[in-house]
Amino acid sequence: MTALPSEFIASMQGIMGDEARLMLDAIGGEQPASIRLNRAKTAWEGGTPVPWCRTGRYLGGRMTYTFDPLFHAGAYYVQEASSMFLDQVVRTLVDAPVLALDLCAAPGGKSTLLCSSLPDGSMLVANEVVRNRVPVLAENLTKWGTASAMVTNNAPADFARLGGCFDLILVDAPCSGEGMFRKDAGAIAEWSPANVEQCAQRQRAILSDAWQALRPGGLLVYSTCTYNLEENEKNIHWLIDTLGAIPLAVPLEAGWGVTGALDGTDVPVYRFLPHRTRGEGLFMAVLRKDSDDASTAAPRSVKDKRQNIAVPQAVKDMVEGSQAFEFVMDRGAFAAVPKRWARTAAMLASQLRVVKAGTAVATAKGKDIIPLHALAVSVIRAEGAFPSVELAYEDAIAYLRRGALQLEGEGRGYCLVTYKSVPLGFVKRIGSRVNNLYPQEWRIMTTYAPDEVLTLE
Ligand code: SAM
Repeated sequence: MTALPSEFIASMQGIMGDEARLMLDAIGGEQPASIRLNRAKTAWEGGTPVPWCRTGRYLGGRMTYTFDPLFHAGAYYVQEASSMFLDQVVRTLVDAPVLALDLCAAPGGKSTLLCSSLPDGSMLVANEVVRNRVPVLAENLTKWGTASAMVTNNAPADFARLGGCFDLILVDAPCSGEGMFRKDAGAIAEWSPANVEQCAQRQRAILSDAWQALRPGGLLVYSTCTYNLEENEKNIHWLIDTLGAIPLAVPLEAGWGVTGALDGTDVPVYRFLPHRTRGEGLFMAVLRKDSDDASTAAPRSVKDKRQNIAVPQAVKDMVEGSQAFEFVMDRGAFAAVPKRWARTAAMLASQLRVVKAGTAVATAKGKDIIPLHALAVSVIRAEGAFPSVELAYEDAIAYLRRGALQLEGEGRGYCLVTYKSVPLGFVKRIGSRVNNLYPQEWRIMTTYAPDEVLTLE
């Protein structure tokens, strides 16, 4: 590994004393491989449980994810284990459906976790300000298949203007990336004390915008993947002292090796240090906004401009329990939004740049109704709405490369293709011909073929 900056080493020794050596050695060591399972798609029971996350599993070694059809199908997300502590936060502190915002969401690791961990009936707005990072966020959420997620491309200040409307906001802040030193030599090259200070200032700007978008009584979860005090404990004290945030304790088990505040105070914060926990560096804290907070503006009232659209029965028939959904037009497609969130989604859409409104179900071309990929991989697709064909491994990879595919027999119309019973997407059969409808932009592009393929068996 590239040598760590001497000023970073000195600052860690200042915070942790002799223990810093153990941590710095661990930063240079092997990174544990882990994934988080999508229980809506797989019942896989392998690996070793990540203790603080119901669906997290450590793996014996790195799998060849690109060559695992179940990875593309959204059956699991590759995520380092410390980040999965968010599941413990949600499980212990959120007990009713919420409107949640993931303000710094790309590529979507914590957004997909929220989709699985939040109580049923919740709605997630996953936002990313950097435009070229939005497609991967939309792709990961689409593949995860959740019914109640929107994707937006806005600045934190745009959310502040909405007033206090979210019950839960996650700020997984852009940071100086010290926790990435083990994975990414570029993070070492970019590090400097001046950059740490700049990141801390930017984080406070993001946090103060997020705070305005939080309803009184709501929860703010703050996380970074850094070790220094400036971006972590000091920002939490700033939230408490300046904004009146109330820090909350998260229940822990002793064996997890989670560390508390490193600034000598007893503020409840949760640090994952690589020599004490099996995972990367992570800092997380949870704060509640006082339910009597008088500084929060009421959610902006906007006129409900929703119009009834004529939705073909064939589109409704593609959706399980379609009466629980409202259909909206999103980029020329019929998209399904859970009815209980439809008004909220419309209000947000009138004030934000929405990239994904709900589940894109189908488009209509003349009399033809064309089902969309998002439906194929969604949990809301009606069981039995399409015939389905199970693919063997080689055919599944050919499909995901958007290559030519041969299926047994003949058929006509749209057909779901599955691998280990998990839907990969649609094909259209025209007699013996098979049109591959896998999205062009998501296809496996590499021509490399690994000697040994390790997949979720
Ligand atoms: N939550 C993501 C996950 O778990 O996959 C990782 C988020 S990453 C640590 C921080 C994100 O913040 C990046 O996607 C970055 O583009 C975004 N970002 C950068 N500058 C920002 C700003 N000024 N305001 C809000 N987000 C910003």
